[in-house]
Amino acid sequence: MSLNRRQFLVLGGLLGGVGVATLAHRALTSGAVSRPPSLAATTAPSPTTTPTGQTIAAAKTAIAPKGLFAPVRGDVRIAVISDLNSAYGSTTYEAEVHKAIALIPGWEPDVVLSGGDMVAGQAPSLSPAEIQAMWNGFDRHVGAPLRKTGLPFGFTIGNHDASGALSVGGKFLFSREREAAAAYWNAPAHNPNLQFVDRAGFPFYYTFQHKDIFYLVWDASTSQMPPEQIAWAEKSLASATAQSAKMRMVIGHLPLYAVAVGRDELGEILAPADKLRALLEKYRVHTYISGHDHAYYPAHSGKLELLHTSALGSGPRPLLNSRLQPFKTLTVIDVDLDADATRYTTYNMTTMQVVDHKTLPRLIVGPTGRALRLDVNESDLTTAERSLTFTPS
Ligand SMILES: [Zn+2]
Repeated sequence: MSLNRRQFLVLGGLLGGVGVATLAHRALTSGAVSRPPSLAATTAPSPTTTPTGQTIAAAKTAIAPKGLFAPVRGDVRIAVISDLNSAYGSTTYEAEVHKAIALIPGWEPDVVLSGGDMVAGQAPSLSPAEIQAMWNGFDRHVGAPLRKTGLPFGFTIGNHDASGALSVGGKFLFSREREAAAAYWNAPAHNPNLQFVDRAGFPFYYTFQHKDIFYLVWDASTSQMPPEQIAWAEKSLASATAQSAKMRMVIGHLPLYAVAVGRDELGEILAPADKLRALLEKYRVHTYISGHDHAYYPAHSGKLELLHTSALGSGPRPLLNSRLQPFKTLTVIDVDLDADATRYTTYNMTTMQVVDHKTLPRLIVGPTGRALRLDVNESDLTTAERSLTFTPS
């Protein structure tokens, strides 16, 4: 959905700089992603049957809802959805949201993640009753059906859920929305079925673990995270629990680098981007998952992988440096823990075709730095690509 910047932006802050790390991207991962699945739909092979007649379910077989391309399952499978909302105050959702929620069990994921913007707040005109009605709508159309699957649901708060924007005096501008979001998520009936490691800051910032992956969720609903929260993130990522997990992922609403038209101003990007990326790299975070840009772009910067999700709700946006028509997505991440690698299968949720990564721009330059497509290495760039500079949309 379109955003009234005056209501949202807390401008200023630090320029992340346009320096680009030159570290080569891990060959394994780029290899895994440089082979996009064929667009032709395949049927999942039958489950393996042992000589004793027992059926071995799932592991290493291709699984998807009937009729869709079926990726081979990794050690861990994650379904990622984001930016579900429609217009301000809306209590209903567009068709792609309903489709995604209905189809998710068919991929048999271990966990479902959301990049935020689950409801359509961030409007001072919304009354407490209207805010409550939005969360009721979310529960009816998304929350309750997901709980019914029993799948853990890890989500980050978006600017339209409960913006953390501050007034000049340092108070939350959307405190009513913050309170409503906290009340919804802390209600025992809305238990997201997560194995929390630290839930003191839930639902705004928290950690959980599932199947050898440590997840940290931070409140990136504005471009400026409070220093205390960055300190908390560092402490959490440095912890024995985080470091002994086989993989670490971080989820926040705003991205570190802009990828979409209309989302390339500093107030729309988490700051300071390079410093936060360095923090995540230091503690061997594999992937940062974000929403907000409404444009799918699987990327990396330095040693950090970046999953920019598109919207499922209204207003998918065009990518910067691209002429592709915008589209809504759901991404299935298959994780190979021993290889420390991820493989994305991303569906255009209108056509249900798999997105061919080769159709996406090889790199995108934003105001705080550039992100390379996941299968493109720094050394692959042409002279022209290397000299590409940021052009505001
Ligand atoms: Zn947003």
